[in-house]
Amino acid sequence: MAGEPQADCLFCKIVAGDIPATVVRETATTLAFRDVNPQAPSHVLVIPKAHYPDAAALAAAEPAVAADVLREAGQVAADEKVEDDGYRIVFNTGAGAGQTVFHAHAHVLGGRGLQWPPG
Ligand code: 5GP
Ligand code: ZN
Repeated sequence: MAGEPQADCLFCKIVAGDIPATVVRETATTLAFRDVNPQAPSHVLVIPKAHYPDAAALAAAEPAVAADVLREAGQVAADEKVEDDGYRIVFNTGAGAGQTVFHAHAHVLGGRGLQWPPG
């Protein structure tokens, strides 16, 4: 069923507590934790607790939860004090765009200059 935990999904295992993560925020529908391989001084992942393969699939199935993820991304930026200098919310979508974990997640990146366009 859509949104159900997937046995082979890394982020579902983090939601279940089977794999440890440095959690910075949690709501009923979302979890935010530090990326294990940070690409900026502040690099936090915000995920829906429900499993969807990417952001578009999440938004199509559960738009309110997609909004929760975006709201939490903004809260992470505030908590990390990167709001004033600017930060980036990134949803890599598809292997060709660098997606490696197929459980929807927002990268919240800040704390350094961020080039545009990204690579
Ligand atoms: P993607 O490449 O799919 O957009 O992002 C996946 C992210 O998950 C990567 O930035 C990667 O560093 C991060 N990641 C992979 N495995 C783990 C893990 O076990 N724990 C945490 N906290 N992050 C992970
Ligand atoms: Zn999952």
